[in-house]
Amino acid sequence: MKKFVFAAIIALLAGVCVQAARPKIVAHRGYWKAAGSAHNSIRSLVKADSIGADMVEFDVWMTSDDVLVLHHDAEAGPYVIPDTTYAVLRDNYRLPNGEPVPTLDEYLDVAKGLRIGLVFEIKWHRPERENLCVKKCVEMINEKGLADRTIYITFSPNAHEQLGKYGVPHYFLTGKSPQELVEMGSDGPDFHYEVYYKNTDFIPEFKRLGMPVNVWTVSTADITQDFIDLDVDYITTDTPELAVRLLRETPDHKDVRVMDFNLEGAESYDAAAAVIRAEHPDFVTLQGVRHTAELNRLAEVSEMFVYYAANGKDGVAVLSRLTPAETRSLTLPNQFRNTPCKAIVCTYDLGSAIRVNIASASMSDENDVTRGHQAEYITRYLRDAGLPAILGAGLNDEPESKAWKVMRGRFGELGPDGVTFPAPVPDRKIDYLLCYPSDKVVRRASYIRPSAASCHTPVIADVTIRY
Ligand code: MG
Repeated sequence: MKKFVFAAIIALLAGVCVQAARPKIVAHRGYWKAAGSAHNSIRSLVKADSIGADMVEFDVWMTSDDVLVLHHDAEAGPYVIPDTTYAVLRDNYRLPNGEPVPTLDEYLDVAKGLRIGLVFEIKWHRPERENLCVKKCVEMINEKGLADRTIYITFSPNAHEQLGKYGVPHYFLTGKSPQELVEMGSDGPDFHYEVYYKNTDFIPEFKRLGMPVNVWTVSTADITQDFIDLDVDYITTDTPELAVRLLRETPDHKDVRVMDFNLEGAESYDAAAAVIRAEHPDFVTLQGVRHTAELNRLAEVSEMFVYYAANGKDGVAVLSRLTPAETRSLTLPNQFRNTPCKAIVCTYDLGSAIRVNIASASMSDENDVTRGHQAEYITRYLRDAGLPAILGAGLNDEPESKAWKVMRGRFGELGPDGVTFPAPVPDRKIDYLLCYPSDKVVRRASYIRPSAASCHTPVIADVTIRY
């Protein structure tokens, strides 16, 4: 099977993408499908908490005599809530499970005794009433000491603006663009899932802007898993038990094998290809790539994709079993006009919202000050990218050099102790597999594979990458 791509590259890497926690599961209108429950009932709150939902969503109206109550629709039976007194509602209307319409006061008193977070929807009132409604809602949450586990949502632009004036976390419920939400002063989107499916750039852009992403109302297994894998912040669902189970079953790590291999001195790449094929790595970081015409064949024999960046004399490349989501070549600092050096960075989506940057870099072999600056540049770049990173580097330097001290200060080492150069009887270590951060990229095993395929022996590590 012809399974390779040659590309000398590259698209822009998306900006900083800091991984946070897994999505919070939000029970939409409480866990209303539970036995004896109903939308926005006290029981739906207690049941949502009991099954391990992270948060409960509920809808709040203000009666004509300024009492805050929970209900989804404006109409409760024959009564229009904003035009009805609380006493009339209480005495004449029941939820389908027999409970009276809860007041916000009653609901929050129960919530205080639970651990569940609150997604507080303020419904759309007439303008002259809405400002008072927002004020009373925020005051009650604050009085009950629930501010640190409450976020607010609304369809009403005015209520959204009012919430902003109180400085509370507030999200908008209809599909504005990221830029429009920024202009509204919003803390983030809470959009129907089809909005995100139709606008696939929205989630990456909201993440880039640092805006938490909420999605409603996701109730099938397929779509719920989609949004777990898209790594949103809140999933609002009518099937919270299903969502909690899917989240628990979603892997929190991926195991991969990584090889670093400097091809300097290889007369042809046939022997190197045989070494790679025998080790069956998921990723290979290559340096010293001089025979670019042979690189495609190396990838084909290894059954991997290849991404390459040219250097002054030798190129760097990454081989992988997956196609990357993004790739970028970086020109490394070269203030003394030595031979130019490059790095290549490939971003991979490993599934289950686990992503990793795999990079290959070749440092200057002419100037140790330049090497130090290059080490600083590439390590800072990978740290700032906000993803777990593995860097295969031909450091061209000894373990006590400045470049290595920079590397060691910022990155952990995945490779073993042991010499790598010159093959076949090495006496120095100048080839490294490095990682960042050490709690997300964990070595399970590593070894140096004896080889005479080039002047360097390859370094191999079996690695766990954590969410
Ligand atoms: Mg709602």
